[in-house]
Amino acid sequence: MIVTGKSVFGGIAIGKLHVLAKSDEKVKRLSISDAEAEKKRFNDAREKSKDQLKVLFEKALKEVGEDNAQIFEVHQLMLDDLDYVESVENMITEEAVNAEYAVAVTGDNFAEIFASMDDDYMKARSADVKDISNRVISILSGNGEGEFTEDEPVILMADDLAPSETVQLERSLILSFVTRFGSSNSHTAILARTMNIPSLIGVDFSEDCNGKMGIVDGYEGKLIIDPDEETLDDYIKKKKADDEKAALLQKFKGLDNVTKDGRRINLYANIGNVGDVANVLKNDAGGIGLFRSEFLYLESDDYPTEEEQFRAYKKVAQNMNGKKVIIRTLDIGDDKQADYFDLGKEENPALGFRAIRICLEKPEIFKTQLRAIYRASHYGNISVMFPMITSVKEVKKIKEILGEVKAELDRESFPYKDVEIGIMIETPAAVMVSDELAKEVQFFSVGTNDLTQYTLAIDRQNPKLDAFYDPHHPAVLKMLKMVADNGHAAGCWVGICGELGADTTLTEEFLRMGYDELSVSPSMILPVRAAIRNIKLK
Ligand code: PEP
Ligand code: MG
Repeated sequence: MIVTGKSVFGGIAIGKLHVLAKSDEKVKRLSISDAEAEKKRFNDAREKSKDQLKVLFEKALKEVGEDNAQIFEVHQLMLDDLDYVESVENMITEEAVNAEYAVAVTGDNFAEIFASMDDDYMKARSADVKDISNRVISILSGNGEGEFTEDEPVILMADDLAPSETVQLERSLILSFVTRFGSSNSHTAILARTMNIPSLIGVDFSEDCNGKMGIVDGYEGKLIIDPDEETLDDYIKKKKADDEKAALLQKFKGLDNVTKDGRRINLYANIGNVGDVANVLKNDAGGIGLFRSEFLYLESDDYPTEEEQFRAYKKVAQNMNGKKVIIRTLDIGDDKQADYFDLGKEENPALGFRAIRICLEKPEIFKTQLRAIYRASHYGNISVMFPMITSVKEVKKIKEILGEVKAELDRESFPYKDVEIGIMIETPAAVMVSDELAKEVQFFSVGTNDLTQYTLAIDRQNPKLDAFYDPHHPAVLKMLKMVADNGHAAGCWVGICGELGADTTLTEEFLRMGYDELSVSPSMILPVRAAIRNIKLK
């Protein structure tokens, strides 16, 4: 039987299914006579909860890093929240009820308030307030934590998993997470990604699969329950091939991106969302060479606020821990449409109102993003780059807007760094004036996907033209050389962030052209590193 869901992290897991039973006993309402004693029981349980959370924080800090561990600090703070504590205490006093009941009702009320908020971040706090309340109730009623007692690795299935539950589980015993509910932005999903565990959410499984054999296909978002022999054999082979491929490449982790004769190059990764950072680190990239920031806009029903963007950029910068993070500003339009932009239908959308053109026409949207990026720069090593540039005039205008944004931030006393600025070279016009453009910025990153489309006049979305879409065309390669030479002549560093950067048949040529950086999808870091280390230029 196959049940589908949404993949949170790719990979294949094969093993016994373990459905985690929720201790769903309803908390009983009891009358009490000594309110003071009951409040003391509550406050003792609250203190004990905080002690447990401190231990969890330390454990998570070691296993999944500071950023992911922070949730347990947030939980400690929530337990000290005056509104929360007073609400429980008032209920105990005024209604003469037991502490368990007062905590359960308060927890539900607060969770409902959070869930009804517009802000996605605040919405997600609903699960956290339930989590802390359950912890206190569990201590009050003398229950131990967690009923996961398997001693062989399993595919763990649950309605949902609170972050505290996830991190407490013994990692070596978990092959995969499968949940009925949960969102890709939940902390648990983030933790699953950080732990490199194939995971699915939104899977409507039935309880009776507990104990059966199962396969999680994190590539295709499928759970196969009780697979027949042929399917099982098939997946055993797929998993073996996966493991072999990964194992072979592991030996390149921690090594330099250096040719046999000593030429070095930076190897960075391309990401589309905050969660991809785990994969970047796992694959040992030296930084993020392209953060396609438009995902924030595409996932949203309305323009993402400055705060929402600031949180996302800050998180990526912090998780990268001082390594370079190049944020590409909004590149919406053409195939990437969000209804609320109301861009209207265009005859030639690839040549239409998109990317930097929208930003320059609607500076209020642009400024919101730039403010968020600059504010986040304080927390890491952020650079910014601009897509679809065709002229020096555009870059001068961008710099003017940047000046305004910085002046605003100064007035409001927001700290920010001297952010390195660069542009994407993805139009033939930009290539031809790259000598002039290089005087305005600190780096170039060539977007070969669009540069190929515009140079060869071939729609990159049209499958009928696949045979004609040739990024190895001499016109494209000559442009790449020209960009590198013009960039270097003016002191810019130059990189490639289009798909061609990962084409190992061209790695040697890119090095000969003098490229300083290649930015590729995380899974291509180690294969490209292997290629670089095999090259001799002299
Ligand atoms: C490119 O055009 O090569 C590029 C990296 O940008 P995108 O693929 O997002 O258009
Ligand atoms: Mg592009």
